[in-house]
Amino acid sequence: MSYVGAIDQGTSSSRFLLFSSETEEVIASHQVETTSHYPHEGWCQQDPKEILSTVLLCIEETLKKCSVDIKQIKSIGITNQRESTIVWDKTTGNHIYPAIIWLDGRTGETVEKLIAKTPSKSKEEFQHLCGLPISTYFSAVKLRWILDNCVEAEKALQEDRLCFGTVDTWLLWNLTGGVKGGVYATDVTNASRTMLMNLSTLQWDDQMCKFFDVPKSMLPEIRSSSEIYGKMKTGSLTGIPISGILGDQQAALVGQKCFKEGQAKNTYGTGNFLLYNTGEKPVFSKHGLLTTVGYQFGKDQAATYALEGSIAITGAAVKWLRDNLGLIKSAAETEELAASVSDNGDVYFVPAFSGLFAPYWQTDARGVIIGLTQYTTKAHIVRATLEAVCFQTREILESMDLDSGIPLNELLVDGGMTINEFLMQLQSNILGINVVRAKMAETTALGAAIAAGRASGVDCWKIKEISSIGKDVFSPKNTDQERDAQFVKWKEAIKRSLGWKQ
Ligand code: ADP
Repeated sequence: MSYVGAIDQGTSSSRFLLFSSETEEVIASHQVETTSHYPHEGWCQQDPKEILSTVLLCIEETLKKCSVDIKQIKSIGITNQRESTIVWDKTTGNHIYPAIIWLDGRTGETVEKLIAKTPSKSKEEFQHLCGLPISTYFSAVKLRWILDNCVEAEKALQEDRLCFGTVDTWLLWNLTGGVKGGVYATDVTNASRTMLMNLSTLQWDDQMCKFFDVPKSMLPEIRSSSEIYGKMKTGSLTGIPISGILGDQQAALVGQKCFKEGQAKNTYGTGNFLLYNTGEKPVFSKHGLLTTVGYQFGKDQAATYALEGSIAITGAAVKWLRDNLGLIKSAAETEELAASVSDNGDVYFVPAFSGLFAPYWQTDARGVIIGLTQYTTKAHIVRATLEAVCFQTREILESMDLDSGIPLNELLVDGGMTINEFLMQLQSNILGINVVRAKMAETTALGAAIAAGRASGVDCWKIKEISSIGKDVFSPKNTDQERDAQFVKWKEAIKRSLGWKQ
């Protein structure tokens, strides 16, 4: 028997899971919630030390829960929240600024200045190069903000002490030795979320680095998603190779076995991310989607690309109902409450807390709850929150269908929110197609384990093209007219949220 470990460092928690490379089953796992801090309106940051320490804790606690001989653990994969940006001092190993989390909106002004600097004065100026619009979302914009606003970071840059990384790079560097020779690298999927990588060459792009005024010399090396990067130099797994890295959404694409052109998955977590495999060529969207690297299995292999629809706030809106409004005590309660009313009572909630991502890319949008009357109860608001997840997904699916020309006839789903049966049925009703849920919830971690286990030199994982995971299918239970009438109302609510911040 051989095993592969997967580190899954998400926005709301860190996890470690041990998979059997033969059966793809989870043998043991451990999860620890992480803390997000919101020091100002629109800001969201985390402590890089907590990101690292929770990962280390999860590894040790998982090992305690099973009787696996460590020699049978062949490799470790990393999957991570993407775009979140960390800078640290390579001489001390200390971070210089908190991790700026992907959904943080503090860079609104930086975005305006950057757009004004482009020849076309358009956020789409570099989409053909890096696949992304200029937005608060991407790492280079966050890095520019740090260099402009944190004197110590700029000083470290001048003194050649500054390291920049997404969460994968921060973890890889620390786990492989840190100041004592840690490996300073990232993979193509994470690099494709920075705006600094050229989608064709899969290397840092001179024009993009110049535009952001970020010297190439300070950036980590870009490597494939599946190769041996280095060995663990800390904890009980010391000596085991780290041989897979995938951004979390790309890992879910792999975990759902979307290896063929035209296959797609939608992951429901803090936000929602629909990725559509476009094969070995990047396809550029005309309808507000991103172009990104799906995976590259080995340094001599071609990359597989994906079109992506990113929604910033879905599960985070449920968390907001719990933590900010106190309307619910747990996320799970939304299921019963939403089902307790026959409809949304004409209430619509656009949770544009960080502006709107795809397909709008409007940093100036803000949240609205509209349609309130004396009849409205918290059940209606909870239901509107779940419906918002589904309406936003419908907008992405419509863009995806227009870009690909081939409408999806079913949607593969995974992620923390998909445990909610009511939400799944609602999603099928709002889309008018089948929603197919993997019975194994940990598809993101599975993707990282697959990348790590199949790497050259590890070779303990034979990819099964057809998923062995069981599925639940949710089919639409309403009429076209009903779903379209609701969607028209949703679009009206969207109009009201756009431009609020101006
Ligand atoms: P991430 O990978 O982004 O950290 P997860 O996949 O762990 O996210 O999912 C966690 C999110 O799902 C949280 O934002 C939480 O509010 C939401 N969530 C968890 N359980 C439920 C549920 N039963 N119903 C609705 N939302 C849920």
